[in-house]
Amino acid sequence: MPEGISWSELGVDSARVQAVNEAPFPPGQRDFVLYWCMVNHRWEENHALDAAIALGNHLGLPVVVYQAIRPDYPYASERLHAWALEGMADMAKGCTARGLPYWLELPRTKKEHKPRLASLGRRAAAVVSDLFPTYIIPGHLRGAAKALRVPLIAVDASCVVPMQRIPAAQVGAYALRPKLRKLWPEYLERTLPRRKVHVSGAKLQPDFELSDAVQARAALDTFALDHSVKPLSERGGRKAGLKALDAFLDERLEGYDTGRNDPGLGQQSNLSPWFHWGNLFPGEAARAAIAAKGKDHPAVQSFVEELLVRRELGFNYCFHTPGPKQLSVDSLPPWARETLSRHRKDPRPHLYSFEELDQGRTQDALWNASQRELRERGRIHNYLRMLWGKKILEWSPTPEEALARIARLNDTYAVDGRDPASVSNFMWVLGLHDRPFQERAVIGKVRPMSSLRTAEKFDLGPYLERWGAR
Ligand SMILES: Cc1cc2nc3c(=O)[nH]c(=O)nc-3n(C[C@H](O)[C@H](O)[C@H](O)COP(=O)(O)OP(=O)(O)OC[C@H]3O[C@@H](n4cnc5c(N)ncnc54)[C@H](O)[C@@H]3O)c2cc1C
Repeated sequence: MPEGISWSELGVDSARVQAVNEAPFPPGQRDFVLYWCMVNHRWEENHALDAAIALGNHLGLPVVVYQAIRPDYPYASERLHAWALEGMADMAKGCTARGLPYWLELPRTKKEHKPRLASLGRRAAAVVSDLFPTYIIPGHLRGAAKALRVPLIAVDASCVVPMQRIPAAQVGAYALRPKLRKLWPEYLERTLPRRKVHVSGAKLQPDFELSDAVQARAALDTFALDHSVKPLSERGGRKAGLKALDAFLDERLEGYDTGRNDPGLGQQSNLSPWFHWGNLFPGEAARAAIAAKGKDHPAVQSFVEELLVRRELGFNYCFHTPGPKQLSVDSLPPWARETLSRHRKDPRPHLYSFEELDQGRTQDALWNASQRELRERGRIHNYLRMLWGKKILEWSPTPEEALARIARLNDTYAVDGRDPASVSNFMWVLGLHDRPFQERAVIGKVRPMSSLRTAEKFDLGPYLERWGAR
C-alpha cells in the first residue's frame, strides 16, 4: 500500500491487494482515481472497483472506469471481441448508474491503438486494476508499472478466497480443498456491499475520443480481427450472465451432481464464459446456489466443488508459476515429466497434423464431434473436454507439441479460453494435479481416457446427434 494509507482502515481486504510499483502518491491536486478494468467486466461484486472507490473517497476524488481493447491480442476474433463488447455495453450502463464516468477506447487496427495509460496516469492520483495471473494481463501490468509515476495497485476480484491467502502452489485439489474450506466462512458468506461514491465525476472529460461498445458490436467487420471465428448466439455481459445463472439454478441445478458428467443430458451450468470475462463473480453464483437449495444439498456441493475448488486450483497454479513456465512440460510433477520422457520415442498408432485436428478429421467420431462443438459452441462439454485433450496427447509427435496444439485449438475457439482454468487443465491433460496410473505406450503413467469407455458409460446418442458428422 502506498505510504500513509491502510487498506483495512478503508474497509478493503489487504489480502486481495498487490502493489505493482512503488510510486508514491503524487504531490498536488489530481483529477481522479482510475479503475483500469481489464478482466472483471462488472460494476458490482467487483473488489477491484470497490478498492478504487474506497481510495477515491479517502482522497476526496471521483473514480473513472477505463476500458480498452486492442484488436491484436493473441487469438483476437469476432467471437472474443463480440463477447467483450457486449460486456462493455453493460458496463457503460452499470457504471453510469453508479455515478462513475465510463471511458472506453476501441481501436479498430493495431495502428489506431494509442498507449493511453501514461497520459491517464498524469491526471490520476492512483491506478487500480485487476490481479489476474496469466495470459497478457501480467505483462500489461508490468508495462503500466514502467509508464506510471503514481501508485499502481492490482486487486484480486477473480477468486472467492484471494490467491494471496494460499501461500504456495498446491499439488492437487485434495491439498487445496481443506485450505479453502477453512477460509470460506470468512469469504464465501460475505457479499460485497455497494460502496457509496462520495465524489461525482460527472464533469470530468477524457483527453481522447470515447468509443461506443454497441456501435462497435454492430460493426465487427470493420475491426482487424480473425473474421473466421464467428460470435456465438449466447450474449456476453453481466445482464446475460445473471440470466444464465438464474436459468441454471431454476432448471438444471437439481440433479447437477449426478448429471453433470453426462454429455447427453446438458445438465452442466454452461457459465464458464461469464466467469472468464468477469461478468459474474463466482462468489455470487455459489451464494445463489446455496440460497436456492442449502449448502448441504449434493448438487450445491458438487457445483461449489467445481466453481470454488477446481477453478481456484487453476488460479493457484498460475499465481505461483511464472508466466513462461505455466505452459511447459518442465512444470509437471516429476513422475509425469519422467514418464512422458521415457515414452517420448514410442511409435504413435495415430498421428494427425494440426489442420486435421482443427478440421475434426480423425478416425474418432466422438472426438470429431467434440472439436465441432468447440468450433461452434465455443467450448466442449466438461467430460468430453477431458477426453478431447487426452487424445491430442496421444495423437501428437511430442508432449510439447500436444500442449501447444491443445492451447492453440482451445484458445482460438473457446469463449472461456485464455483463463487460469484453461492453463491448469491443459497441463492436467499431461499429469498436473493428478496421480500416476498403470503404464501404457505413448502416454506412460499419465491418466488415460478412451472414447470407447466413454461410449460404454454414457448414452452419447443425443450428443452425436447434435455435434456429429452431417
Ligand atoms: C483440455 C481442457 C481445457 C479446458 N479449458 C478451459 C477453459 O479454457 N476455460 C475454462 O473456464 N475451463 C476450461 N476447462 C475446465 C472445464 O472443462 C470447464 O470449466 C467447464 O467444462 C465449463 O463448463 P460449465 O460452465 O458448464 O462448467 P460446470 O461443469 O457447470 O462447472 C461450474 C464452473 O466451475 C468451473 N470449473 C468446472 N470444471 C472446472 C475445471 N476442471 N477446472 C477449472 N474450473 C472448472 C468453471 O468456472 C465452471 O463454469 C478445460 C478442461 C479441459 C480438460
